[in-house]
Amino acid sequence: MGILIVDDSSDDRFLLQSMLEAARYGEVFAADSARSAFQLLGIDGPGQGQAAIDLILMDLVMPDMDGIEAVRQIKAVDHLREIPIIMVTGKTDAVDLQLAFAAGAMDFICKPFNKVELLTRVRSVLRLIHEVTSRRARETELLEVMRQLEEANEMLLRLSRLDGLTGVTNRRQFDDYLDQEWRRALRENMPLSLVMLDIDAFKDYNDTYGHQAGDECLKQVAAAIARVLNRPGDLVARYGGDEFVMVLPGTPADGAIRVAESIRAKVEALGVNLSDSPSHAGLKHSVTISLGVATIHPDRETLSSVLVAVADQALYQAKQRGRNRVVQAETNSLP
Ligand code: GH3
Ligand code: MG
Repeated sequence: MGILIVDDSSDDRFLLQSMLEAARYGEVFAADSARSAFQLLGIDGPGQGQAAIDLILMDLVMPDMDGIEAVRQIKAVDHLREIPIIMVTGKTDAVDLQLAFAAGAMDFICKPFNKVELLTRVRSVLRLIHEVTSRRARETELLEVMRQLEEANEMLLRLSRLDGLTGVTNRRQFDDYLDQEWRRALRENMPLSLVMLDIDAFKDYNDTYGHQAGDECLKQVAAAIARVLNRPGDLVARYGGDEFVMVLPGTPADGAIRVAESIRAKVEALGVNLSDSPSHAGLKHSVTISLGVATIHPDRETLSSVLVAVADQALYQAKQRGRNRVVQAETNSLP
């Protein structure tokens, strides 16, 4: 804690200094002019000393530069602006005081000094400043807490949209996304394709290699699908169990079939990778998938759920026809 007295009268400086030192407010500095106060505060160019000042007692009438101009200049410096200044004045001229307050002074004390009045004013200004500072610190803390909360919320939101096992989009988010892309395709009169896929004989896979290996397989299938989809609007979601669904906006039937076929081939090739993983050492099991593809130009009378149902029927056909294949939905099964 430091208090700076600026007064051209050595008697007044001495008196103020002794009163404040006796009250033990901290270190008391004294300057006999605005210029030497500026030096103490480090205003007058680089290389000057910069005392830690928490309060300034500024004489109003001084030769060279008066107290009002000195206050104005101190308040113009960013890092000094917050230091409270109490004017010290021998005359209670209303205009001078008004100018001093307009320049940024916080209070005033009249000469001759009354010790009780001086200490009371100093204490109340210091208390006010302390309260302002601690409120600001609390506000900063609060802002930080709010930032962390926002971050946590974002993370939660992200997690609430993802499937916990595979890390791809979950069913709920898929429903929203399909709805959004359905409306966009309607507006822009663009085709919208959907691919449904289901792992073949996955129950056997689980029974043979265990549930953990099954989970690992689901992750690898999800990753393989994600690698094939490369357009920004493409989305893969876990539809449930061993079923995945892909939304391919702006993609016509032939494009969707090509994507489906390349996913089928990628997953079939995974069998090799699975046998390389530690949990499958020495095993060879070629994982295959069946896929159903449906494409539609949405219209106002049709619901997006129709596309899912039709792709699901095509997937069922793929299973019926022997699995490990892509089947395109019958065009007449679409409205
Ligand atoms: P199909 O070729 O007809 O699809 O035969 P399937 O055995 O794959 O039959 P279905 O798709 O109906 O079986 C889904 C199986 O997927 C049931 C369950 O054993 C397995 N499964 C579902 N969810 C999970 C999971 O989160 N982890 C693991 N490890 N297995 C799962
Ligand atoms: Mg299956």
